[in-house]
Amino acid sequence: MEIVQRKITYRLYPNATQESAMADTLALHCRVYNSLLEERRRRFEAGESGMNFSAMCRELTVWRRRSSALESLNAQSLQVTAKRVDIAFDAFFRRVKAGEKPGYPRFKSIRRFAGWGYKTHGDGWRLNLRPDKHGTVRLSGIGTVRMRGKGRFTGEPKTAEIIRRHGKWYLSVTFNVEADRIARIAGGETAAFDWGLTTLLTIAKADGSIETIDNPRWLKRRLEDIRTTSRDISAEETRIRQMLGLKPEQPIPYARYTCKLKRLRKRLSNIHGKVARQRHDFYHKLSAALIGRFAFLASEELSPANMSKAPKPKPDPENLGAFLPNGAARKAGLNRGILDAAGSKLLGMLRTKAAEAASVFALANTRAVKPTQRCHRCGTLVVKDLSQREHRCACGCVCGRDENAAKTLLRWFCEGNFWPGTGRGAAMPPETLSTAPCAW
Ligand SMILES: [Zn+2]
Repeated sequence: MEIVQRKITYRLYPNATQESAMADTLALHCRVYNSLLEERRRRFEAGESGMNFSAMCRELTVWRRRSSALESLNAQSLQVTAKRVDIAFDAFFRRVKAGEKPGYPRFKSIRRFAGWGYKTHGDGWRLNLRPDKHGTVRLSGIGTVRMRGKGRFTGEPKTAEIIRRHGKWYLSVTFNVEADRIARIAGGETAAFDWGLTTLLTIAKADGSIETIDNPRWLKRRLEDIRTTSRDISAEETRIRQMLGLKPEQPIPYARYTCKLKRLRKRLSNIHGKVARQRHDFYHKLSAALIGRFAFLASEELSPANMSKAPKPKPDPENLGAFLPNGAARKAGLNRGILDAAGSKLLGMLRTKAAEAASVFALANTRAVKPTQRCHRCGTLVVKDLSQREHRCACGCVCGRDENAAKTLLRWFCEGNFWPGTGRGAAMPPETLSTAPCAW
């Protein structure tokens, strides 16, 4: 029996006492994280021998003997925090080695510190799931915390993480699940989709028809909310800076925050949290629906090229070196930031669900296929800038920009590199090609 790992996240509802214990635990883990980071940094800069994970764990044992607060924390969960420091350093050394911008591991303020983890079920945490209602989790030193949420399946709980996000608490549990239990029923259709800012998905189906899925209305409304609240925050910040005689780039000390600024910041964080949760839910449902319909599904890979679909600044033709006002830029910037993150999320969910349904989900290399530029009918590259919403090719093919991209992806999916001048590449294994008929 094949075993796979799946994560289920539950929302926690601690009472006041439990919440304050959780905040204390979080603060301790944050201090441990920063202290380990500092120690490793000190040794690194003094040229002493490095400090690997087991050295950090030994250090932790010493610290635990000295501090009763640390003593009261679960020993394995402290090791998980040490592991996080280790991972941060590994990533740093990897970047140095690859010649990238290294970005030294940072100290984390309590506000940036997300949570802590547990290694083994039964050691520091115990899950109590009930089939009829929502369950509870027992956390050592905190108590039995109520939780909400239900997975499509459960399995054997292995590890867990406590996460605080936008002022709310979550428990994310990794389960070992028998692959059969999570199997999905795949659909039978074939399609490819292009995704973008204006229309979320443009789906080209094998029968030649097109379907579109718009970004949900609530997203637009929330983005508007974010925009106005951000504007109010910066107005209030400017007012405080003037009052204190600070320069625009100087940070405002937290002690000088006004009630209004605190309230606005809290409000912004709440809206961001709400958007994130609603979007997460929407993409889960959308990806489940897509996998439920299509046995063969394709799109393009995430790449910097298709992630920054922003309108270019318009140069002023009458005044060299000047630019015409581009009011869309700021707005697009915000939407882009939120939706870019969404794209990778959606593709990730589709990948997992396709595996669960044993269906084919393929991603085209954007640089090679160039779905936006390439004519789906003749394969010629028709260069367009971002404002051009129409595809118009010398071969007589005229259609919407997104429609053309989706159809190009579909054709690549079914036929490989179909354009002239290239050998026919196999986008799909040959045995799937015959079962995925396409009509042009
Ligand atoms: Zn053409």
